[in-house]
Amino acid sequence: MSDRVIIFDTTLRDGEQSPGASMNTAEKLRLATQLEKLGVDVIEAGFPAASEGDFEAVSQISKKIINCEVAGLCRTSRNDIDRAWNAISHAAKPRIHTFIATSDIHMKYKLKMDREEVIRATIEAVTYAKSLTESVEFSAEDGSRSDRDFLCRVFEAAISSGATTVNLPDTVGYAIPPEFSDLVRYVRKNTSNIHQAILSVHCHNDLGLATANTLAAIDAGARQAEVTINGIGERAGNTSLEEVVMAIKTRPNFFPMHTNIESTLIHSISRLVSMITGIIVQPNKAIVGANAFAHEAGIHQDGVLKNPMTYEIMQPETIGLSSNKLILGKHSGRHALKSHLKDMGYELSDEELNLVFTKFKELADKKKHVHDEDLEALVTEGILRTADIFCLEYLHVSSGTTVRPIASVKILISGRSTEGTAYGNGPIDAAFNAIAKLTGTESDLLRFSVSALTGGTDAQGEVTVRLREDSLIALGKGADSDIITASAKAYINGLNRLEYLKKNPFQASEVL
Ligand SMILES: [Zn+2]
Repeated sequence: MSDRVIIFDTTLRDGEQSPGASMNTAEKLRLATQLEKLGVDVIEAGFPAASEGDFEAVSQISKKIINCEVAGLCRTSRNDIDRAWNAISHAAKPRIHTFIATSDIHMKYKLKMDREEVIRATIEAVTYAKSLTESVEFSAEDGSRSDRDFLCRVFEAAISSGATTVNLPDTVGYAIPPEFSDLVRYVRKNTSNIHQAILSVHCHNDLGLATANTLAAIDAGARQAEVTINGIGERAGNTSLEEVVMAIKTRPNFFPMHTNIESTLIHSISRLVSMITGIIVQPNKAIVGANAFAHEAGIHQDGVLKNPMTYEIMQPETIGLSSNKLILGKHSGRHALKSHLKDMGYELSDEELNLVFTKFKELADKKKHVHDEDLEALVTEGILRTADIFCLEYLHVSSGTTVRPIASVKILISGRSTEGTAYGNGPIDAAFNAIAKLTGTESDLLRFSVSALTGGTDAQGEVTVRLREDSLIALGKGADSDIITASAKAYINGLNRLEYLKKNPFQASEVL
């Protein structure tokens, strides 16, 4: 059996199904480029039949990505498969990923199909997909709750129709590790042609077991793991890429296998996903949480100083964290910035670099040391916001202990400049009132949070807002050394995301 585990990243598809995590096409392209550098084998770029926006994003990613397979998800209908194929056919290495539910409960209530009909749909879909492209993946949705023997029959039919990968999802996050590895062994033993395909797993984290189930399945012979960065995804999320990759890397005696992931890029891509989606990583999250390598107890600190291996099973450098990283300041030039960004995994065009360099100089004037976290914020803010409708031009706030807070704001709305003032209970409230008045938004502010990107009183503040308009919820983020400006940027970012959501409603009802 192969000693390589194929990493199938679905941050752009299942990850995007996290509530409020929708990304625009520019953001998706940026993330896909980073995933390619990270070394994932397959990028699931979206569900092309779900919406025009999804189709467009998958199509653009297909044109750009060279080293990874680009997968488009589709149900078993010919129309869905055609949409997926039209979107991915430009790709250097296209993959059609088709799925149908195989559990009794899904077949009876959702599909209203019996077992024989599901087998027929599988054969027809895989045969048709195979006529379009070589690499075809078939998923048995709700596989972990399906009848075992029926599951083997469906996989057998998919493989004889040409599927090169068969995927066993724990769609609802119900499996327990020993039970799931047992199911993987059963499928491998009882599907006669299983050696002609790669067996994959796709787990959800409803019981906090997604990584454990995925690793148990790999131990039992699965050779593809479907994962997302930071474990984002439907409900409680998907299996986290960094946890699976680092478990295999850290425990080679237990897992005599490898992945193609360049682990030193894990930290930067985790930050990128967090910035783009607005979903903050919990501090105690394994591998990528802010505290994952922080030793608080004195006895631990003492041990780590004497020999890191006393309490550290992984070196922070292996995921791209470095204690002695180069810190840039106001005298750093364009070339230093460019090469530093390259080390961090960002290869920018000259035009993009100019934009970031200007913002970097502005920041370095306000702040002595510019850290990697600051640069990431500049890159994600500066580069990924190209299609914005609202753009903050100018903000002036006056507040203090003796004045009523008032804000003057100038905003570009689709290129047209408009300005106004408003009072508020505090400076941020005043700024938000002025922005709301100018944009005419009907959204409600559900949540507002501020955190510091780095230490020190000159640290940049990072603000996250959560907005709701009718049934749509959007997150907005902004960073600045002035927290009132950061707040205004976050609010405007959230309003832009709401506009984007209004144009790209997610129509798919299936969750895989
Ligand atoms: Zn899923």
